[in-house]
Amino acid sequence: MFDNLSDRLGGVFDKLKGRGALKEQDVRDAMREVRVAMLEADVALPVARRFIDAVTEKAVGQDVLRSVTPGQQVVKIVHDELVEMLGGEETPGLNLDAKPPVVIIMVGLQGSGKTTTTAKLAKLIREKHGKKALMASLDVNRPAAQEQLAVLGEQTDIATLPIVAGQQPVDIARRAMESARLQNVDVLLLDTAGRLHVDEALMAEMKAISAVSAPTEVLLVVDSLTGQDAVNVAQSFTGEVPLTGVVLTRMDGDARGGAALSMRHVTGQPIKFAGTGEKLDAIEAFHPSRVADRILG
Ligand code: GDP
Repeated sequence: MFDNLSDRLGGVFDKLKGRGALKEQDVRDAMREVRVAMLEADVALPVARRFIDAVTEKAVGQDVLRSVTPGQQVVKIVHDELVEMLGGEETPGLNLDAKPPVVIIMVGLQGSGKTTTTAKLAKLIREKHGKKALMASLDVNRPAAQEQLAVLGEQTDIATLPIVAGQQPVDIARRAMESARLQNVDVLLLDTAGRLHVDEALMAEMKAISAVSAPTEVLLVVDSLTGQDAVNVAQSFTGEVPLTGVVLTRMDGDARGGAALSMRHVTGQPIKFAGTGEKLDAIEAFHPSRVADRILG
């Protein structure tokens, strides 16, 4: 994860740290290299630009360049700005603060890892939060989508809503709510149909599902490996669907990290989790400061 970017930045900052005194031009030269490294890591252009501007403005401040360890100060500024870019100091948790059943809606493109992530989260909710979860697939478009969730339910020993052939998504959501109440379920996860793109049908469906389930979380699942495409997907969902957070999947295979670095800026929402493998416990809470540490080695 972030290997290439980390190597590149390491090179730039080793040079800076190795010098006793720094001039404004040294900082600007270093930032030019950082910008190239970010774009190569597939960070969205406006995000990279904003980052460089913010770091440059702080780093060329008189106090920094006059200090005894200007290089280290610049690296500290970069670190803090990276944390900001990744979502801030706080680690955003799941909002489960509502009268049960608390509802989490999962949205995303087909193949993003949405269904797997639904099962991973349900497992985490049981194991980390000690709560009873129920999963329901509202995906009536893709044949076998509902069965796929049922299989994951069996693997994780988490209940799934029984499948009723021919039922429409909103009716399934209603039935899931009813079932969750009857079984004293704490958290209901609704896995919505994977999309090829964002369209009016999706928005209408989301509105109707939200109206019957009043979710505390609407999580967008995006594949980090798709880089700029992931950013575009996030952009098209933002504003159309009331997102509360992002889950980035396939972080295990993402050596570049551009999607992770751009997501907060593009969606205005925190990255809440990172998927790190195919196994059902391969999910991690996303800690911006730890990720920044990893990037800066
Ligand atoms: P959906 O169409 O969005 O519901 O996608 P699926 O949940 O069916 O996932 C598609 C494929 O991606 C499956 O083979 C998953 O095992 C795999 N997958 C999901 N998340 C991750 C992840 O974080 N890392 C890796 N390596 N594979 C993942």
